[in-house]
Amino acid sequence: MSSKNYDVIIVGGGVMGCATAYYLLKFDSTLKVAIIEKDPTYEFASTPLSDGNMRIQFNIKENIQMSQYGMEVMKTFADEFEVDGVKPDAAFRQQGNLFVLDEHSKDESYEGYLLQKSLGCDVEWLTPEEVGKYYPLYNLKDCVAGTFGPKDGTMSPMGVLNGYKKKVIQLGAEYIHAEVNQVLKEGNQIVGVKLSDGEMLHSKIVMNAAGAWAKHIAERVGASIPVEPTKRQVTIVEANVHPQKVLPALFLPSGLYVIHEGEGMFMIGKCFADDYVGTDDFVWERKMFE
Ligand SMILES: Cc1cc2nc3c(=O)[nH]c(=O)nc-3n(C[C@H](O)[C@H](O)[C@H](O)COP(=O)(O)OP(=O)(O)OC[C@H]3O[C@@H](n4cnc5c(N)ncnc54)[C@H](O)[C@@H]3O)c2cc1C
Repeated sequence: MSSKNYDVIIVGGGVMGCATAYYLLKFDSTLKVAIIEKDPTYEFASTPLSDGNMRIQFNIKENIQMSQYGMEVMKTFADEFEVDGVKPDAAFRQQGNLFVLDEHSKDESYEGYLLQKSLGCDVEWLTPEEVGKYYPLYNLKDCVAGTFGPKDGTMSPMGVLNGYKKKVIQLGAEYIHAEVNQVLKEGNQIVGVKLSDGEMLHSKIVMNAAGAWAKHIAERVGASIPVEPTKRQVTIVEANVHPQKVLPALFLPSGLYVIHEGEGMFMIGKCFADDYVGTDDFVWERKMFE
């Protein structure tokens, strides 16, 4: 079997793997970087299945700062990731995110609001009447307040992934269609990976960007990481109402969220305490919709 050497091997070619390769090569264009992806169609990867919503409305400083950075990236994405005259379309639109608050969620959200403000975020604290102004379809029963981030928005996760992927290939990263089934170690030092066809790739740095499968990769070197792949379900519904402009994405105290996609199309989702944990269940369930 042949053997190849790299400065960095990235396991997983989803948005995290491809973006990491990009920022490594931006930092040092001489690096030899390999991205290994077991399924270039990304059928079960999280990235293309994601809602693509981006917001500064978090209660943790680091999350807010990551979103602030992401929003800066979106501003110049098409130009920065142009390859051979073709600009990627991230389809980023800033329709705003509206959080509806009840008595139970109000205080924690107010703390988050103050933190967001202290970090320079554009966010508003709303009365129930103002919530109704932003989202005329919403029944205001139990609503005691709301927060609105006018710059929050939604992008095409596949558009963003394709932008990073094409750019890193142009910059010299090797995108390899293969499955990593072993991470190689000598003593305490990582030395590379073994692919399912037996080929060995060598590097002292192996990055685990395997998403929902990251725990399995870590286990191969005896490491335990707190990644629990939890089933989520998103449903697109078509309603009779056809608002003239795109409404803000709506986040309700129950955990239900509603992202208006234009005209009568709405994308909805919710998580439940007993959501399935594992990487082998992709079946749509009526009970998760109701
Ligand atoms: C339904 C849903 C909605 C979401 N909505 C949002 C949202 O609105 N906003 C937001 O910010 N985030 C959202 N997310 C989360 C977001 O999608 C993920 O955080 C992000 O896509 C993770 O990217 P990733 O590259 O880590 O994982 P992935 O995209 O899953 O990529 C991991 C890749 O690793 C590959 N891989 C795994 N094991 C191996 C191996 N052994 N060898 C080679 N390749 C391997 C897989 O094939 C996969 O392509 C959502 C996720 C889901 C599922």
